[in-house]
Amino acid sequence: MTNRFNALTMAQEQIADLDLQLLKRTLRVTETPCDTQTQVAGRKLKAFCSNDYLGLANHPDLASALAEGAKLYGVGSGASHLISGHSIAHELLEKRLASFQATHIPQARALFFSTGYMANLAAITGFAKLAGRGEVSLYSAKLNHASLIDGVRLASAQTNTAVTLFDHACPSELVEPLKADKKPLKIIVTDGVFSMDGDLAPVKELLKITEQHDALLLVDDAHGFGVLGENGHGILEQEKLFSDRIIYIGTLGKAAGVSGAFICAQDSFIEWLVQKGRPYIYSTATPPAIAHTLLKSLDLIESEAGSKRRKHLNQLIRIWQEEMHFANWVKVPSCTPIQPIILGNNASALMAAKLLDEAGYWIPAIRPPTVPLGSSRLRITFSANHSTEDLRELISTLKEIEQKVISKSS
Ligand SMILES: *Cc1c(COP(=O)(O)O)cnc(C)c1O
Repeated sequence: MTNRFNALTMAQEQIADLDLQLLKRTLRVTETPCDTQTQVAGRKLKAFCSNDYLGLANHPDLASALAEGAKLYGVGSGASHLISGHSIAHELLEKRLASFQATHIPQARALFFSTGYMANLAAITGFAKLAGRGEVSLYSAKLNHASLIDGVRLASAQTNTAVTLFDHACPSELVEPLKADKKPLKIIVTDGVFSMDGDLAPVKELLKITEQHDALLLVDDAHGFGVLGENGHGILEQEKLFSDRIIYIGTLGKAAGVSGAFICAQDSFIEWLVQKGRPYIYSTATPPAIAHTLLKSLDLIESEAGSKRRKHLNQLIRIWQEEMHFANWVKVPSCTPIQPIILGNNASALMAAKLLDEAGYWIPAIRPPTVPLGSSRLRITFSANHSTEDLRELISTLKEIEQKVISKSS
């Protein structure tokens, strides 16, 4: 009997192929809350891998707020927002999120989503639909997050739109194509903080170009919200921007420590998404208890305690910049809690991650397609819950591991 179940054979062969290329990913099961110490398979590891930058994911006040939210609102929302799922907790959260961007976007209004992935799909496909088929151009930064890339692909397919990729380090690349662009709607799409490199998009310059060419600027600040700016309001606060051409996206499962995301823009833009944003319309509203918890998280972010956490995080970043020196490995220049080390090939990155694991650390090897071919890396992230001693121990461990990897691979 021949095996006629083709799909199953394909799946098995493709997975074996990924394994051969050192591209197979593995799930690790955590047995304790997200924090700087995590237990995996009974072993305690020092974790430098989460995006819980402010150390709020395991904060007792937020755990209490979630329990309180469940008492107040139950556990499920029961329907999408436009049917009957839009609770007072969602409404209060959206008002509060909008207040964070009010000095950066005139008539700011926010719309809450269950994930950043969905918010990005909704924003890009929704705004692309403001113009007719073939009447929009999308400009997308090459190193954008996968969810922005997917949003751009979907919008491009739906509206028969051309996509122009640009290097975010070189925003002037946009000027010539925008000058030649006669489409009535132009949308520039960028990460605020690039998630695998930690550098910032040149948002000031991008906004200038946006204004000169009558475009919209969509900024995904997943890694900046809560972290950047005096009050943790994100990249727009830090860079002191103000414009009704900005579509701001923040996520709430990283520095905010909970889950969810939001789009913030001028009121009419948000109203358009309520009317036409399919990922918003056709999905069950996030449990109101999550929105209730997020209100507490926003209080923490804006408070004196939040400000202390950001100061400490910046101190960790300074120590890393000043004290982490490698013989061969390349540190990516970054002023955010994302601090990658480029090792190049998959084998070296995996070997380094394994040696780190043996030394009691959890730092993942990031490989293609998450990063470009030949730039496999260790992605180190700091949390405000790391102490300066934690960081100095990591620095000396990394120096030893670099020597081991170099001697083993030469
Ligand atoms: C994590 C991330 C997202 C996705 O947000 P989720 O809430 O995790 O779905 C979107 N954009 C960027 C840049 C991210 O890093």
